[in-house]
Amino acid sequence: MANLNNLTISKASELLEKKEVSSVELTNYYLERIEKLNPELGAYLSTEKEYALKKARESDERIKSGKRIGILDGIPCSVKDVITTKDIETTAASKILEGYIAPYSATVVRKIEEQGAVILGKNNCDEFAMGSSTENSAYMLAKNPWDLSRVPGGSSGGSAVAVAADLCVFSFGTETGGSIRQPASLCSVVGLKPTYGRNSRYGSIAYGSSLDQIGVFGKCVEDISSVMHVIAGKDSLDSTTVEYPIFNIQYPINTQYPMKDLKIGIPKEYFGEGLDSEVEKIVRDAIDKYKEMGAEIIDISLPNTEYATPCYYLLSMAEASSNLARYDGIKYGKSETDNAKDLIDVYFKTRGKYFGDEQKRKSILGTFELSAGYYDAYYRKAQKARSLVKKDFDDAFEKIDCIMCPVSPFPAFKIGEKKDDPLSMYLADIFTISANLAGICALSIPAGFTQNNLPVGLQIMGPRFDEDKILQIAKAYEEMTQWHTMFPSI
Ligand code: GLN
Repeated sequence: MANLNNLTISKASELLEKKEVSSVELTNYYLERIEKLNPELGAYLSTEKEYALKKARESDERIKSGKRIGILDGIPCSVKDVITTKDIETTAASKILEGYIAPYSATVVRKIEEQGAVILGKNNCDEFAMGSSTENSAYMLAKNPWDLSRVPGGSSGGSAVAVAADLCVFSFGTETGGSIRQPASLCSVVGLKPTYGRNSRYGSIAYGSSLDQIGVFGKCVEDISSVMHVIAGKDSLDSTTVEYPIFNIQYPINTQYPMKDLKIGIPKEYFGEGLDSEVEKIVRDAIDKYKEMGAEIIDISLPNTEYATPCYYLLSMAEASSNLARYDGIKYGKSETDNAKDLIDVYFKTRGKYFGDEQKRKSILGTFELSAGYYDAYYRKAQKARSLVKKDFDDAFEKIDCIMCPVSPFPAFKIGEKKDDPLSMYLADIFTISANLAGICALSIPAGFTQNNLPVGLQIMGPRFDEDKILQIAKAYEEMTQWHTMFPSI
């Protein structure tokens, strides 16, 4: 049989097309790897063997009869557990949703299944996507496959590990504030946070509704493009979506953005104090590659960067507190009614018992800042600061095509190192959350390794709905480097 290690979508697709491998064989390859490696890596909260094999058999039938739907038909993938799947448990990595089976699949899930993709299971993550290390999962730790003593990042840590450790071909994650780009950087895979409004969030369990987006992890830039091509677009079930063309850079690589005409902005605020020197060097070396390709490097300023972190946490907590209110022990999931005096007591008992610390923290702080008397001082002020952060990007993109900067101030940190210090965990999001506040698109691509062999990603940010452009820019780097072809030896 063909070598199945670390297949990209296009390579797997080619093997399926030529009948050198069947979707069932491919699916079994991943299921066996998951069985062997997942107890250590914690990338999946659940796998759906029978479900996956049934889908794979259906795909093989189509291939046999010459009716393969498209490039995703028969390709095994995985889905972050905050995204609903009709016949498969969705827990949001929370005890409060243990055993919950949603009555419908998320639009992105429906769309890839309609294209014949095979869902292997649900990825581990921080509970309700709240965190930056996947240590907030109520079920299990996820470990970085490059160094098992370190976190994979979060909140979509399991989705990043699944791709990095070859436990699927591609995966879905979500972002509210960096949760795709940061684990992609820490695990050396490609991760895209699309523009707000690009993909439907129908079926994505809400954290911060003005920020949330579903995005993709893959082994190369083309794979991200292939999946985006399928999932992007207007959805009548999510009124925040818009129809805006996105083409597949796969066929053929479009040269709409030649590197020699490219203007790359380097924000000075992203290269200051607190940035690890090895990370800085790797990112600057990557930017130098673009210079070699003929791009113009322009120093820019995003002057309101210092407000981004407090602004993001105020807004996301306010939105989280209202989104988490629906887990009241009545409508969804677990209910704690034993010895409850009244309805309010059911709420307290259920939420007290089944929410993690971070959910309690966000509910309490978010409710406080939305309360009468504090709304103007905190929430409204944060909304104003958000406009300033957004304006920084709008102004910058008048003069440049894209922004390049680090994703995370440091490489993967040790498991447990920041777990009991939420503030230091929040501050680690400094380079990612502005893109969420501004609603722009941004991605992370593998850009090298520290001396301890820890991966570092390069972040490329682009204007709203310019995914095609940043994907092509990222693709040009892939063509010049080999980082994306390196995988952990586990
Ligand atoms: N670490 C951030 C938080 O906890 C971001 C999480 C995310 O993007 N889902 O809010």
